[in-house]
Amino acid sequence: MKLDLDRQPFGSSELALGGNLELGMPDGRPQSAEVTGTLVVQNLESRVLLSGTLRAEGRAECGRCLEEFSLVWDVPVELMVLRDVDTDENEGVTLLILQTKGEVDLGESLRECAVLAYPQSLVCRDDCKGLCPECGIDRNQGTCECEEQNIDPRWDGLPE
Ligand SMILES: [Zn+2]
Ligand SMILES: [Zn+2]
Repeated sequence: MKLDLDRQPFGSSELALGGNLELGMPDGRPQSAEVTGTLVVQNLESRVLLSGTLRAEGRAECGRCLEEFSLVWDVPVELMVLRDVDTDENEGVTLLILQTKGEVDLGESLRECAVLAYPQSLVCRDDCKGLCPECGIDRNQGTCECEEQNIDPRWDGLPE
């Protein structure tokens, strides 16, 4: 995913992006993600500002049932490429690349954006029932007797 400074038209334009990013996140989180979307590019004299929201999709592990599922999340991007390294116009922008000409590789910056925007806790679906804390069965796929044994007093005292 690249921005070509030599071919970028002046003023405002759009840059369509798409590609696979290695995320390098801990286990249970997506190791890589397909990132797609369009950024608005403001090409000015000494700097190029890229902004917008991309879409990332990767394989994640459900926090309740531990099943793998396909997770889609929004990745807000605000990124500046400074062509004139001496200018002082970088205030308020999270990510900064210093480069005067040629193709800018956006991969590492977009990776940072995708990791920063990654949701803190997630489940495969809102009504995921999770695992039984006693026997470990996936309650989405089956039922077990654990709860009944713990809460139903009628079974107390019956002969074996
Ligand atoms: Zn789940
Ligand atoms: Zn159980």
